[in-house]
Amino acid sequence: MKSVHTRDGVQELVAEARKGGKTIGFVPTMGALHEGHLSLVRIARREAGCVVVSIFVNPTQFAPHEDFSAYPRTEEKDLSLLEPEGADIVFLPTAAELYPDGFGAALAPGPAAQGLETDFRPHFFGGVVNVVSRLFHAVKPDIAVFGEKDFQQLQVIREMVEKLHQPIKIIGGPIIRDEYGLALSSRNAYLNPEELLIARTLNRVLFDAADAMRKGGKAEDVCREARFRLLKNGFDNADYVEVRWDRILAAVWVGRTRLIDNVAIG
Ligand code: AMP
Repeated sequence: MKSVHTRDGVQELVAEARKGGKTIGFVPTMGALHEGHLSLVRIARREAGCVVVSIFVNPTQFAPHEDFSAYPRTEEKDLSLLEPEGADIVFLPTAAELYPDGFGAALAPGPAAQGLETDFRPHFFGGVVNVVSRLFHAVKPDIAVFGEKDFQQLQVIREMVEKLHQPIKIIGGPIIRDEYGLALSSRNAYLNPEELLIARTLNRVLFDAADAMRKGGKAEDVCREARFRLLKNGFDNADYVEVRWDRILAAVWVGRTRLIDNVAIG
């Protein structure tokens, strides 16, 4: 496994792998890696001959009041988790390396970005499409793997690749949960023990809501009931609980931590 910090560096290693007849699989992350990320690396491993993982906490997808500086950074541990998974190249660019032209947003996200996250984090998908397109440009992968945990993001990336005719196959990886059903997230590290107990109830509410939808419930009623239960369980607020893409999706607050999750209906 090789670590590189520059675009030239990653391009050189990828070109070498290609010369050896390998296809390139790519997993972009913000680090603080957990089993959710590693499951995507395993998918990439299965689908491609050479696996590239990027670790970059992207400043352009955080608003000034958000947790960019507090976001967990655990580079050494991340590398020690990636090595046994068979990652070949870890790309750890600096912001200057990825944004030599500054943070001016060049790309706008497509219609999938409308609503949901955008209503509460209007800067978010602009930051995501800009960083992912820059990473794609540097790595030039054949396939890229994204988690269904960030379901709207997965749709926005699919749209971007289609719109730009990028020859990259986007694969969605299933949500990895802990033994209580809590979707793994780097942000779970923010939760104190009491908040963790509350956080673990989110998935139950969403699975029940998906059941209610399958039994013919009206989206509006099901989402209202789910929101009511979330607040009763101790969540401080729900930014949204909504049905889209045959899934029920939610963003909730427990204390100062924002969690997102979603469950398939069909
Ligand atoms: P992040 O480091 O949070 O930006 O996430 C990097 C990638 O890992 C994204 O494609 C996420 O959707 C994915 N991911 C994060 N958590 C999970 C999870 N619990 N299960 C599956 N994929 C995940």
